[in-house]
Amino acid sequence: MRMLYDPSLKDGKPTTMNDHDGSGFLSEAGARLLEKEKKYCSYGDTVHYALRPKLFERCEGSYLFDDRGCRYLDLQMWYSTANLGYAHPRINAAVHAQIDRLPQLASQYLHREKIELAEKICQSVERGFGLKGRVHFNVGGAQAVEDALKVVRKATKRQRMLAFQGSYHGRTLGASAITAAYRYREAFGEFADRAQFMPYPYTFRAGYGGDAQRTEDACIAEFEKLFAHECTGAWNSRTGACEFGAFFVEPLQGTGGYIVPPKGYFKRLAALCREHNILLVDDEVQMGFYRTGKMWALEHFDVQPDIIVFGKALTNGLNPLSGIWAREELINPRVFGPGSTHSTYASNTLGTTAGLAVMREFEQGDYETSVGEKGKYFLNGLRALKAKHPQIGDVDGLGLALRMEMCKADGFTPDRELADRMFQIGLGHGLDLGSGTVGVVLNIVGYHKNVVSIVPSLQITRAEIDEGLQGLDQIVTLATRA
Ligand code: PMP
Repeated sequence: MRMLYDPSLKDGKPTTMNDHDGSGFLSEAGARLLEKEKKYCSYGDTVHYALRPKLFERCEGSYLFDDRGCRYLDLQMWYSTANLGYAHPRINAAVHAQIDRLPQLASQYLHREKIELAEKICQSVERGFGLKGRVHFNVGGAQAVEDALKVVRKATKRQRMLAFQGSYHGRTLGASAITAAYRYREAFGEFADRAQFMPYPYTFRAGYGGDAQRTEDACIAEFEKLFAHECTGAWNSRTGACEFGAFFVEPLQGTGGYIVPPKGYFKRLAALCREHNILLVDDEVQMGFYRTGKMWALEHFDVQPDIIVFGKALTNGLNPLSGIWAREELINPRVFGPGSTHSTYASNTLGTTAGLAVMREFEQGDYETSVGEKGKYFLNGLRALKAKHPQIGDVDGLGLALRMEMCKADGFTPDRELADRMFQIGLGHGLDLGSGTVGVVLNIVGYHKNVVSIVPSLQITRAEIDEGLQGLDQIVTLATRA
């Protein structure tokens, strides 16, 4: 790994442990850029969630490098987008070759990579769930969610949806309507098609003392209540007709806090959906592509989806590409004919090429085994940290989708400020990990914004996991002292 340390730093490391928010640590050119950003860039995105926006210059494997060449271990990997590591040589090479041959083409025409990628995704669904269907590409996760909504509406003639409390499906208008947090809708008027939000089985906070079975039973009972009589507003008990077209689920909640559901929950939920003719839409935008140790996270739970939504890691963060897979009966050309949906950049040649290269990588490695093993090792390390720091109320995970929930010293009351401090400390350059790494890039998620999601590269090495655990230990120590 090439290091680009600023020679003004002692041994290439910062000489102080105090500057944890990165203030005063920019190059002159970096400072000038931030001044321009203040003037010319909208603040409408999430950049300014941070006290000081961070400027990065280069990326490689598990690491980001700032504009002074300092190295940061990334434990969030663009919210599970760069799953195979930054600047992956084979995926980059495939895109370079595509730039030289067919760099662009209107989505109205066909190119080889689009067809082969669709085939590979269909085959993965057939392997994972034993189902046949078709793929439709789009550009971003939320747009693919919109396409899933269209398929559901067209097939069921129903426009009301079910989704989970704590869900996140994107920020277009349609996706916002099925995303739980009112904060995302509040400023934008009426959402007539707002979903009905059911509780997700969040064992740590469900009120049953961490008992997963009781949490599962309670959430299933809550769903069953919808069909107890016709006055719940869900269905016509005389005809059996249900008002809801589909239940949009994230197998593990991502933005909601990297929550792993109890093992038997989804099977029971899916059976109830089937009984009431409600389609099951599996949003794998954040958990798909081996994040949890399976190609599709829902495969862990022995359940068959009707529609799968994917995005993010499909291209490992290169050209934007997303899409849906739907069962043949929902998306065949007689039901979902030409022009049903379209976007100029959908199935762009660079994105489909990157996607194909990503799928080939997955075919060539045994990610089920390696992600499972690395995840267990990381989770054991997190358990050791929990034993050391009472402020870590919960750690859990599946594969390399891991969580660390930050609390007051009682180990339960959510401590959002502590999580915020950890985020800032990680992005500063004040850590000393004895390996040249000066920071750890974290992301904060969860119902109370107090959960550190741990989402490393699937290629992360044991040494890098150890470095990450050491970094987290230092960060928690510094943040709880502050
Ligand atoms: N669904 C899920 C589960 C997500 O995590 C996200 C993004 N965080 C989206 C949909 C929306 O994807 P995008 O940001 O690409 O629109």
